[in-house]
Amino acid sequence: MKKIIFSFLICTLLFCQEQNRPHGNQYKLPELTPNNFLIGNLNENRSSYRVSYYDINIDFDIEKKSLDGFVIVKAESKRDLNQLQIDLAENLDIKKITYKNQELSFTREFDAVLIDFSSTIKKNSMFDFTVFYQGIPQSADNPPWAGGFTWSKDKDGRDWIAVSCEGEGARIWWPNKDHITAEGDSIRMVYTVPSNMVAVGNGKLRSVNTENGKSRYEWFVSNPINNYNISVQIGNYVAVQDTFMKDNTIHYMNHYVLDYNKELASNYFTQSKEVIRFYEKYFGDYQWYEDGYKLIEVPYLGMEHQSAVTYGNGFSIYNGVRSKSWPMYGVIDPLIIHETGHEWFGNSVTASDPTHIWIHEGLQVYSEAIYFEDKFDSYEVGVHYLNTLKNRIVNDIPIVGNENENHWALHGDTYMKGAWVMHTLRSVINNDKIWFEILKEFMIENAKGFANTRDFFNKVNEKTGKDYWYFAEQYFYSPNQPELEYYQTNSKFFYKWNNVNDNFTMPLDLLVNGNEVRIIPSKNFQSFEISKHSQIEVMDWKFYVLPTKNEK
Ligand SMILES: [Zn+2]
Repeated sequence: MKKIIFSFLICTLLFCQEQNRPHGNQYKLPELTPNNFLIGNLNENRSSYRVSYYDINIDFDIEKKSLDGFVIVKAESKRDLNQLQIDLAENLDIKKITYKNQELSFTREFDAVLIDFSSTIKKNSMFDFTVFYQGIPQSADNPPWAGGFTWSKDKDGRDWIAVSCEGEGARIWWPNKDHITAEGDSIRMVYTVPSNMVAVGNGKLRSVNTENGKSRYEWFVSNPINNYNISVQIGNYVAVQDTFMKDNTIHYMNHYVLDYNKELASNYFTQSKEVIRFYEKYFGDYQWYEDGYKLIEVPYLGMEHQSAVTYGNGFSIYNGVRSKSWPMYGVIDPLIIHETGHEWFGNSVTASDPTHIWIHEGLQVYSEAIYFEDKFDSYEVGVHYLNTLKNRIVNDIPIVGNENENHWALHGDTYMKGAWVMHTLRSVINNDKIWFEILKEFMIENAKGFANTRDFFNKVNEKTGKDYWYFAEQYFYSPNQPELEYYQTNSKFFYKWNNVNDNFTMPLDLLVNGNEVRIIPSKNFQSFEISKHSQIEVMDWKFYVLPTKNEK
């Protein structure tokens, strides 16, 4: 029996396990459940307001694995409104919701909370309300792929806790408008933990207050941030200080690791600076200097939490948890390059619907090939990297599914095929100057914003003067890998596309006796003249196509 190989790959690399995620089986397009309907689209009770700020306050009870907190939501009304929807996992209790010191009534349906305001909030006004809640949040079955809280112990048997929730949604641990486009402009996190522990959040540490055996850590992010990127890590952490020089400005990097790993991390984490310089060269400036950049050691593999990238690969390029299955040519840690790259793909440029999440993951994996190409000054090493990923592509469902259905398209093909689709598009465009301008301009023009597949191809079309939407329809909206059927006679080479859309007119390069020849196949056989016994190769190291020799 053929075992299903690739399950969801959240932010990280590849994995072999089946999981049940709230957003569905990743081997077929998910069902539109009532909860996904409530969470996946911006219905009128969500589009009626824009969140500007979250003030998150949580007291953690480590023994009970529970939390007790309140979140102040500051928002702007987009129309007159009497009610709105906020989202919180249904297993968490809401103690009360207040507005102007009055308790509001609310109803709950799955993860949606419909709040009734006692008076109309007029269009274009700023208002805030506070949700008080408590409960035991979902534990992570297999973080970060099946997320939630990881309640773990460090090597000295001390508590060590972290959360990861991409796909599940931040609503599994705090109330928010849980849509990928609903980013606050800034957020404050106040985490209260036992005073012998340290709580690390995103952004910068503003204050620590200790009293009655508890410490209160206040963190602040002064930039827009995806809800699923907001995180908490609790453990016996110490800071590892480093600096990053850019344009004669010193930026401080304060990594957090378990106390016994301080020396190890202070040597190992310096590689993150090279990674940042690489991404800035090809994809524009790092967007969160005000919030810093840090790596935080966690008891799971890692996640791209904005300005607070989590790391659990074991501090080894060769022998880390994920290093062995991931070719890094001895030059970089796979988690550091992958999760740090998401500061560009995902955190800065966010998919406008999670069904377009190849913009996070496909571009991310592709950028790793570019990293090796740049590092070794060798196109061939980049191709080699991509070739090591190729057999992980399954071509079962389209990379892009339906919008508005809470479809987090974190399927394996989003990663590996997404990367190959970008590599193929580069080959089709066949002009590296334009190609790298496309990537950089797309990232810069959409920095701190949202984009979908159409937006990406609008940039491609603008820069090339050609319409490549047919390419997107084939590679992103269909699961089918184009097949080039071919055969040759003593005097001719015949070729045609199979398994493609009718409008698929992608050019393809062949090597004919060692000379590159570009053809534009169609669904009908075409041919060109060749000499007897010519050797013809389909350049499938540049194009994601399946060459099939017709032996008839
Ligand atoms: Zn990723």
